[in-house]
Amino acid sequence: MDHGVSGNLIVTDGKTEVTRFKEIIEDDNINKIAVNVSGGTDSPLVVYFMAKSISISKSYHKEIYPHFMLDRSKTISQTPSWVPKQMDIIRGLFPDVTIHDIMTQEFCNEGWDRKTFRKKKQGLWEKMMKNMIESIKPDIILAGGMTNLPTSLLKLYGHATDLQGNIINAGKQRSIDEIPQSKKDTNPWHKVNKKFVAHQYRKEGLMENLYPITESCLIESVEDLISQGLAPDAYPCKICHQCIEKYIAFGMYDKCVSK
Ligand SMILES: [Zn+2]
Repeated sequence: MDHGVSGNLIVTDGKTEVTRFKEIIEDDNINKIAVNVSGGTDSPLVVYFMAKSISISKSYHKEIYPHFMLDRSKTISQTPSWVPKQMDIIRGLFPDVTIHDIMTQEFCNEGWDRKTFRKKKQGLWEKMMKNMIESIKPDIILAGGMTNLPTSLLKLYGHATDLQGNIINAGKQRSIDEIPQSKKDTNPWHKVNKKFVAHQYRKEGLMENLYPITESCLIESVEDLISQGLAPDAYPCKICHQCIEKYIAFGMYDKCVSK
């Protein structure tokens, strides 16, 4: 049965072909593969297909090093427990492949306002990336960055967009276009969007095990959610870019909330 990675290690939805995994397998200079994992849907899928490609091609000398930069100021986030579980699920599917222990680095908002924190984050990330590179010495660094959903599809779901294709009033949307070319080139999903990712989740049978423990946006439950019968806990906000794209692609928000 074809699970998306065919014999030639190309991941496709029948229209777009992602060749990054195949290229890594065929590149003899790449053995240590670092993957920045965030807790969302996109980065564990990079780990999944990398592991699957290593397994299919029996390239066991190529090893995966997950790296997680954990924002401790998001106290409601489930990612501290979900990211390790995500990796365990993938290890269970490909027990022959080496997926190292996650290198976790924590950072926190030290009392900055939102705008300042966003700026500070960039510097913090760069520092953590430097630490990771010094510690792991990877031959390549992968991440889950991708393009936004097409404007036409967003319109179909009733979301107005600006001229850059960003959803209006849905918070800051960091498109892959803003990532420097050198970093962008290594991201397997840099030419595809959330629909492609959702297609792979369904095709690979990851909706039952992996999807429920992916987090794009969880906030503290607010009054109108509680009045809808939801317990006071972490829930998707349903109005930010991440929530909107996840819902359109998967038909569900975080925690499988479907309406
Ligand atoms: Zn949200």
